Amino acid sequence: MESVDPATGAAIAEYDEHDTAAVDAALSTAADRFDSWSARAIQDRCRLLERTADLLRERTDEYATLMTREMGKPIGQARSEVEKCAWVCDYYAERAPEQLADEVVGTEADARTLVSYEPVGPVLAVMPWNFPFWQVFRFLAPTLAAGNVGLLKHASNVPGCALAIEEVLRDAGVPEGVFTTLLIGSDRVDDVIRDDRVRAVTLTGSEPAGRSVAATAGEALKKTVLELGGSDPFVVLDDAPVEATAEKAAFARTQNNGQSCIAAKRFVVHTDVYDEFVDAFAAELDALTVGDPTDEATDVGPQAREDLVADLHDQVQRSVDAGATLALGGEPLDREGPYYPPTLLTDVPEDAPAATEETFGPVAAVFEAEDDADALALANDTSFGLGASVWTADLDRGERFARGFDAGCCFVNEYVKSDPRVPFGGVKESGYGRELSRHGIREFVNRKTIWVQ
Ligand code: NAP
Repeated sequence: MESVDPATGAAIAEYDEHDTAAVDAALSTAADRFDSWSARAIQDRCRLLERTADLLRERTDEYATLMTREMGKPIGQARSEVEKCAWVCDYYAERAPEQLADEVVGTEADARTLVSYEPVGPVLAVMPWNFPFWQVFRFLAPTLAAGNVGLLKHASNVPGCALAIEEVLRDAGVPEGVFTTLLIGSDRVDDVIRDDRVRAVTLTGSEPAGRSVAATAGEALKKTVLELGGSDPFVVLDDAPVEATAEKAAFARTQNNGQSCIAAKRFVVHTDVYDEFVDAFAAELDALTVGDPTDEATDVGPQAREDLVADLHDQVQRSVDAGATLALGGEPLDREGPYYPPTLLTDVPEDAPAATEETFGPVAAVFEAEDDADALALANDTSFGLGASVWTADLDRGERFARGFDAGCCFVNEYVKSDPRVPFGGVKESGYGRELSRHGIREFVNRKTIWVQ
């Protein structure tokens, strides 16, 4: 496996894939370690998460630089990502004991009945490159706190991040085998899922990868959590402050170089403010600095790989062919590296790729809505259902939209974001199950009924 700096095309490092024997040994160690790890007091496990959080904070610059080099994220956003990982470790270190405490249930007068939350064993996590630390930490913090052990198959372009995560846990005192990185390609995931030592699997990634992992796990009757793609609507109502909302919209679309599952992708704008919003949005997108991700002033860095730019550009071209108007950008930049400029498409037909597919890069599609009902219908007119936001001066009207969105994470006057305190996940083709909060920590536990008569 090779990691390559997308900004320069320079090779960073090469890693040997783990062969079959190495994977077998890792699974055996994980299964063995599960007994002692799950037998520890939860407070003990949580203390190691606290120590991990401290180390992450100490090493923020080191890990942020690693992420930026491997996948091109702007350096400031990479630092925020490391800090957020420390936050999720601290959050579960503090809250997991209460979230997994026995729950007493009133049944018969002469019975003691309770629900206990018990770990299930080794859990495989298949993870994407776009938030190479955060996606992994939001899985591992609750999973390890609950007493499970984790196996990571990270995306093939971020092996350095995968090994750094293993390292920080080891340095914090987490015993070897409690969290293990498997350096394998996606073609070897099925074998790991089928292995009896693996009890469950979670995947964050694209819809095709989710279908494949869920099919294999289904055959093996293993539980899955799937966090898949999204085409989040960003609804601008006629009473929203246009300039301020356009500024938020530009960040919501271009954060992480536009490569976020919860980036706003479809902008549904009330007809009364449509022209004004499109002008302000185009100006905001145009003002963004595209360039070297290690430069603090950069807003949008390179796309993570050459092939991703080619796919994105193809979606833009097919959308224009289908009748969309290119209002800004729309051509890969003529410079070294896979750079794509902030791009704005208007008059997007409902069957154009920018309307029906996930665009994983800084490409915004704008739609005009006649009224609230039309706006909600357009927002929900997607096979995805991850996040959605609405922007309005009327909070009741906003909450009506939030309740009407067919999505997992719905925000009023805030862009969609993940936060350890609230559940995160989607509906429809965005997947199922939840991460974060007390809902996330209860995904990979046996909710055991204990009835003492
Ligand atoms: P991806 O191509 O699906 O890859 C994700 C992970 O799955 C990688 O580790 C990949 O390994 C592996 N994989 C791919 N195909 C597989 C298969 N058939 N069987 C088993 N494993 C397979 O996605 P990506 O390009 O890395 O990430 C972008 C996608 O992730 C977008 O759709 C985005 O919306 C989604 N995403 C969702 C969330 C969420 O929380 N809902 C968060 C972030 C990203 P290799 O790298 O070795 O191919």
